[in-house]
Amino acid sequence: MWYFKSIKNLYYNLLKAKSRILYGRPILVLMYHRVNDIKDDKLGQLTVSVKNFENQLRYFKDKYQILKLNEDWTSLKKSGLVITFDDGYADNIINALPLLEKYQIPATIFITTLNINTDKEFWWDRLGFDYSYCDELFYLPNFKERASKSNDTYKSITAYLNPLSNEDKERWFLKFEKINQIPFSPRDEYRSLNNLELKLLSEHPLITLGIHTHNHYPLENLTYEEQKRELILSIEKLDELTPNNIKYLALPHGSYNSETYKLISELNFSGSLLANNYYSSEKNKFSKKINRILIPDIKDKELLNYIKRFDF
Ligand SMILES: [Zn+2]
Repeated sequence: MWYFKSIKNLYYNLLKAKSRILYGRPILVLMYHRVNDIKDDKLGQLTVSVKNFENQLRYFKDKYQILKLNEDWTSLKKSGLVITFDDGYADNIINALPLLEKYQIPATIFITTLNINTDKEFWWDRLGFDYSYCDELFYLPNFKERASKSNDTYKSITAYLNPLSNEDKERWFLKFEKINQIPFSPRDEYRSLNNLELKLLSEHPLITLGIHTHNHYPLENLTYEEQKRELILSIEKLDELTPNNIKYLALPHGSYNSETYKLISELNFSGSLLANNYYSSEKNKFSKKINRILIPDIKDKELLNYIKRFDF
């Protein structure tokens, strides 16, 4: 049915032309978390290997106009591309920065300030370890029946833990590890950036720091006051190290409500970063809602095909 395909292509090209006339060239704001060769990334898609990251940077440098978040996004000569990292893992400076320097590519790193300068892991990484370690049939706190491992079970544990406070999460983990006899202790390759590393990054000409809140709670579940505390606390934590003039916020889990945008304008943020797998354009700059695309651990042809559908 070749004609279906060509009608579809024609339709796609018309949409593309319309979008370029209305909003200018697309800007692909990429969302990374980790650049690391660890193999046990349970949630998947949060870690890109060092080799693939370099392959990706080389491709972007060649094909796109690389931009910073706070640059002018109008009158581009090519499609634009912006690199961002969420969470604030130490491997951002250890593995990603040397490659960003090699290719002279700027990036913004969004810091979750909760674990900075500690050896603590984020709860999703701890869950990844615990879940891989426990038996095929395992116990959940407060349930007599044993649960069995499956993608659905893992998803429902994640959904249960996500909105809990850090104190409640800690209590859950201690119980879970006890009843399943899991010897968890924080692993160095899962730590957050420390004070010295953050100071170096904040002074680095290629790097801009932004916030990813203090506790990484989904903001849509919080009141105006609670959200305000999350934002102010994370700004203060970073400013203690060095004055940063934080202007951008990456929303944990891409989650927000109308109070979030009240705060973004009250606190004079230049923009918020979503997690919706969609391309951006200059109009996103004005609305302060910047779409982002999650980049998986892929390279070469697979990368090309993946990125093509966002290059609108
Ligand atoms: Zn995050």
